[in-house]
Amino acid sequence: MQRRDFLTTSALGLGALSLTGCYKEEDKKSININRGRKVALKLATSWPAHFPIMGTGVDDFASQCGKLSGGSLEIKVYPKNILVPALQVFDTTSLAQIDAFHSGVYYWKGKNSAFSIFGGMPLGLTSEEMITWMKFGGGLELWRELYAKFNLYPLIGGSTGPQMGGWFKKEINTLADLKGLKMRIPGLGGEVMKKLGVNPVLLPPGEIFTSLERGTIDATEWVGPALDSMMGFAKAAQYYYTGWHEPGSILEITFNKNRWEKLSNEHQAIITSATEAMTGNMIHEFRYKNAKALQELPKEVQIKTFPKEIMDSAKIALQEVLEKESKKSEDFKRVLQSYNEFTALNKPWDDISTKNFLEIRG
Ligand code: CA
Repeated sequence: MQRRDFLTTSALGLGALSLTGCYKEEDKKSININRGRKVALKLATSWPAHFPIMGTGVDDFASQCGKLSGGSLEIKVYPKNILVPALQVFDTTSLAQIDAFHSGVYYWKGKNSAFSIFGGMPLGLTSEEMITWMKFGGGLELWRELYAKFNLYPLIGGSTGPQMGGWFKKEINTLADLKGLKMRIPGLGGEVMKKLGVNPVLLPPGEIFTSLERGTIDATEWVGPALDSMMGFAKAAQYYYTGWHEPGSILEITFNKNRWEKLSNEHQAIITSATEAMTGNMIHEFRYKNAKALQELPKEVQIKTFPKEIMDSAKIALQEVLEKESKKSEDFKRVLQSYNEFTALNKPWDDISTKNFLEIRG
């Protein structure tokens, strides 16, 4: 044993006497080995540098990890395209070329269709409900099991809260108005829209406004008033529809699994706590900034809600999409079953608590 290690172990041994019962033996061992050893991790994101709410959220997360660890855990955040292209963060982390990433789970449905459920369900659970399913209803265990096949370890890394349904150049009154409409809408929401006659397209964020302005697309969804205002969509489309397809999208901070397992228990606990703080902050920040930005939308913007006929058809189309995906993938079927079990458990309580109260409050 080297002298420095001996000193560290002895010093901690004395201090730990009073903590007996707080730590398990393996925790103590891990802390002894890792205390004072500086760890530097590279984390790439899918957002531009300091992008409002999502990007600043991950900046704060990294800063918190540094503070909580007394400087022994340094997480360096690389905005999109600095170290890796925005949508290659999954692969590069999987291959251990970087240590971790911050992104949206729905981007990876091409890897495994089941991942789209972890990202959020159209007409489904809100952010708070999604996180409850993940933490207490088995969702997180399934997510970690399926990501382990890619040598990845995911943590919840924020959520957007309810998103808006999108910007439309013309008013949507009947199902016929959706036929042939070109709309930028990704994920399961896009598949539902396709069944309703929409032509869903995928566009990188930098091209959405120009495409909408020039009429290359007729509609686009993005996030909510806070971030949509920055994109200038109100200048290109007047009708702003309320949301249905992303009621609680989940973002992730995901680590290379081997890298995660080599971290000390102390650093793992710090990262876990920092992601939880980040998730809460992000939901609250989205709520506040969306509420404020809604008040500041240009006067010509008309807030609309899709007619019941369209939402009823969307519900039927969603069930068809989910059945089809379940037949194609055993993973999708398992994750959906867990999601549905939680939904069934949650609904009666939500009906008499939150939903009932919001109706009373009016
Ligand atoms: Ca969106």
